Amino acid sequence: MRILVTGGAGFLGSHLVDRLLDEGHEVIALDNLQTGSRDNVAHVAGHRRFSFVEHDVIRPYEVGPLDRIYNLACAASPPRYQADPIHTTLTSVLGVVHALEYGNEQRARVLQASTSEVYGDPDVHPQPEDYRGNVNPHGPRACYDEGKRCAESLVMDHHRTRGTEVRIARIFNTYGPRMDLDDGRVVSTFIVQALRGVPLTIYGDGSQTRSLCYVDDLIDGLVRLMEHPTETGPINLGNPVELTVRELADRVRELTGSESPLGRRPLPVDDPRQRRPVIDRARRLLGFEPRVALHDGLVRTIEDFRVRLGVTRAA
Ligand code: UDP
Repeated sequence: MRILVTGGAGFLGSHLVDRLLDEGHEVIALDNLQTGSRDNVAHVAGHRRFSFVEHDVIRPYEVGPLDRIYNLACAASPPRYQADPIHTTLTSVLGVVHALEYGNEQRARVLQASTSEVYGDPDVHPQPEDYRGNVNPHGPRACYDEGKRCAESLVMDHHRTRGTEVRIARIFNTYGPRMDLDDGRVVSTFIVQALRGVPLTIYGDGSQTRSLCYVDDLIDGLVRLMEHPTETGPINLGNPVELTVRELADRVRELTGSESPLGRRPLPVDDPRQRRPVIDRARRLLGFEPRVALHDGLVRTIEDFRVRLGVTRAA
């Protein structure tokens, strides 16, 4: 197949590119390099079935015939998506409109990368797909949360009114090699701090929870959903093993052998208190199953960070 990955030079996008090339497809990565990087796709730059287009999805694009569009383009870490919040909303809303219109024209199937953030700060725990969420529509996270919620609405309206073939994946926190070293996310931040021997910045009291999925597992779920013959979703994709931020800090210190102390910072506004996916639908409909345990995933991620930081052992 000929497949477009928007956000193809990002963390998830570049891993998806690798998987699709391995499966024998022709892959076009489209990215504005706002948070993505050419480094993430440098290893496939000379591949005969790979091409890269520098472009911002808030404007329409034309890349020739297509069978599939994975619409992953959007800054996804809170500091990054809040740096230019209007652009973040436009990326989700206009980006999905352009993917859907192009997909419809090409008779290509479109998968939208949605997010656990559609559940906001959830008052139902864990979160099944039919939970409608608790989002502050005008807070500092709204540009991302509401942009992604609006994108889901556009995807389903396109499907209902124009017959566009669509899929919606609600992606929960994902980590792994190639994460941006300073994207401000908790996993990347703690690993960098541990390897540099500086305090790990725990926001609030560290009792808030997240459920962390290793990138290979997540990518497998995306491909399974895209290739399901009929299921549109939304479907939660993630790993339901939940831990507190404080527990994560302890795991990272232990696995890096770091002596870094724990530091405290204020809890960001509207920071979700808890998050854990119900993945029964993904298991039943897609045969999805996260396989990489947190310990193994963190070891692989730390190794990748050591290489990129040029650190042989923790400070
Ligand atoms: N967090 C933290 N220290 C950091 C970065 C994040 O304690 O240096 C916390 C943050 O407040 C949140 C959790 O870790 O409760 C996950 O944050 P992240 O930015 O990775 O993702 P998101 O909030 O979008 O799930």
